[in-house]
Amino acid sequence: MEVHNVEFLISAVRPEQYPDPIIPEIALAGRSNVGKSSFINTLINRKKLARTSSKPGKTQQLNYYQIEDLFYFVDVPGYGYARVSKTEKAKWGDMLETYFSTRENLALALLIVDFRHTPTADDIQMKEFMDYHGVPYFVIATKTDKIKKSQWNKHLSDIYKTLNLESIDQILPFSAETKEGKDEAWEIIQAVLDG
Ligand code: GDP
Repeated sequence: MEVHNVEFLISAVRPEQYPDPIIPEIALAGRSNVGKSSFINTLINRKKLARTSSKPGKTQQLNYYQIEDLFYFVDVPGYGYARVSKTEKAKWGDMLETYFSTRENLALALLIVDFRHTPTADDIQMKEFMDYHGVPYFVIATKTDKIKKSQWNKHLSDIYKTLNLESIDQILPFSAETKEGKDEAWEIIQAVLDG
């Protein structure tokens, strides 16, 4: 897809702040620094639209972007490497709980993980949130350019097993560096929008 109009809308915490649910929404979930902004930027052919990794504490918001008049991308924060307090973790959990349980136009979640590493407890928790709330999801394993092709199967199988997925085909290898997986990512999104 050729995207011309992308607009940053709002950093929302509470449901009253979410944009009107008049178009479908695609959530991008993942730990900070995993490559979420790079993923969005690759899809929309921009160098620097999505704000890249903000500081811990500032990441406890849902950042909304509107793509044409077609759909919203919402950047859903993870804990990342931040050492946040128990209170902050609880707030984060409540925010996600509210979001996933109430957002009626949520059509798809893309769980972004690092292809190089075994998914973390946060990644597993995020996947479980989606299962629990019946949100359709796809796993995007990014930074594939860092791994030799001969090692790919090992990494795919590790992600598949650790996240306890139904099928290994739920994982899309992706790289913002080489644009690997970009067309396939758009196909996944398009299928949901056509849905
Ligand atoms: P975010 O915090 O999840 O939005 O992560 P960013 O998109 O800001 O990426 C974090 C860091 O990883 C940056 O230094 C990016 O340049 C780098 N990065 C992101 N995606 C890729 C990728 O596909 N390949 C490589 N080699 N580096 C990447």
